[in-house]
Amino acid sequence: MTAPDYDAIVLGAGAAGLMCAAVAGQRGRRVLLLDHAEQVGKKILISGGGRCNFTNIHTAPDRYISANPHFAKSALARYTPADFIALVDGYGIAHHEKTLGQLFCDGSAKQVVAMLLGECAKGGVDVRCGQPVREVTHADGAFGVAFGDQNFTAPNLVIATGGPSIPKMGASGFAYDLARRFGLKVVEPRPALVPLTLGGGDVLFRDLSGVATPVGARAGKTAFREAALFTHKGLSGPAILQVSSYWRHGEPLTIDFLPDAAPGWLLEAKRARPRATLAAALALPDRLAQTLAERLALAGELGAQSDRKLAEAEAQLKRWPFHPNGTEGFAKAEVTVGGISTANLSSQTMMAKSVPGLYAVGEAVDVTGWLGGYNFQWAWASGYAAGQAL
Ligand SMILES: Cc1cc2nc3c(=O)[nH]c(=O)nc-3n(C[C@H](O)[C@H](O)[C@H](O)COP(=O)(O)OP(=O)(O)OC[C@H]3O[C@@H](n4cnc5c(N)ncnc54)[C@H](O)[C@@H]3O)c2cc1C
Repeated sequence: MTAPDYDAIVLGAGAAGLMCAAVAGQRGRRVLLLDHAEQVGKKILISGGGRCNFTNIHTAPDRYISANPHFAKSALARYTPADFIALVDGYGIAHHEKTLGQLFCDGSAKQVVAMLLGECAKGGVDVRCGQPVREVTHADGAFGVAFGDQNFTAPNLVIATGGPSIPKMGASGFAYDLARRFGLKVVEPRPALVPLTLGGGDVLFRDLSGVATPVGARAGKTAFREAALFTHKGLSGPAILQVSSYWRHGEPLTIDFLPDAAPGWLLEAKRARPRATLAAALALPDRLAQTLAERLALAGELGAQSDRKLAEAEAQLKRWPFHPNGTEGFAKAEVTVGGISTANLSSQTMMAKSVPGLYAVGEAVDVTGWLGGYNFQWAWASGYAAGQAL
């Protein structure tokens, strides 16, 4: 059976696809939104612990990772956190800032999905779920999509099927395969915002599973000050998730265990409390303080240590090197770094430069935000840019 034609078919009813379809629909385009999952917006529903950290008021292009750091600027400038907040407010969805500009629903992420479906309904978008996309074709300027046992055609096709993070939720590399078929390049995808695993000499730190402390974590030139959490596999917590997006296999990661301590604090502690041990002098959780003191081979009272040894210990606590042997992979990664190359897309419209009518939006594209609402803001902004262009 051949169903009526559309102006645009959007593949993937996640954050970016819902936004794109709603915007295009409200501009009078006949839009078909398809998803293989039974339910739309599954990642929105589980995000932010069920409360959806839907944007970050500090959104700026430098909070995104991409082979072209300028690419995201145009879309982010044309659809801002204030625009999304206005939409959320229009639906009466109560929200609050949790920390660091991160906005969450007071109630439930379900409200955000209902809102996006409401916006799609306003635009007359035809939303269909729960069938596999069996085939995508392109001939005579029209894209054909075989969805279950139905075939649809449209002059425009939007790839909004996200990245491969959390495959058990239906995430896949579908976007990349499709993009490659149309001759677009894919920047090597790797898990991001993901816990790191420790082995070798660092394996002893796994005994600290459950211990959390505020740190400065650094990978290469990029550093974040937030909490780190030791796990039975290695390291997690916001600071580690953030640097994981910048970390490369084989590189060390350094942790500043006392980011607020003034230089010379340990010599100062020796003078003020000569009978104290290093572990007692460290303003850190007990088990962590004991482990660090043992590894620094600084047992006994501070007063008995040489100034040189204490200066060395202070330097090591400031830049403690860890050598992660990997990440917990796409199964645990909140997002994916890499994706459809921005070099192949217009930053104004998200359309492929070499394939008129083909668009890519959201996480499928090589633009990845920091932890804290930045990834949804990219999904809204890129979806909006394409929705305006369709
Ligand atoms: C546990 C978790 C928590 C998160 N929390 C936050 C947060 O609080 N704030 C934030 O900013 N970001 C968060 N993120 C990241 C955020 O969810 C993503 O960046 C965002 O959902 C990307 O939007 P998208 O529309 O590009 O892709 P998705 O939302 O992943 O949507 C892709 C859609 O495509 C569909 N699809 C996939 N393959 C196919 C196929 N072959 N055929 C048809 N349909 C297909 C999927 O079913 C899905 O509906 C979180 C991610 C995870 C995993």
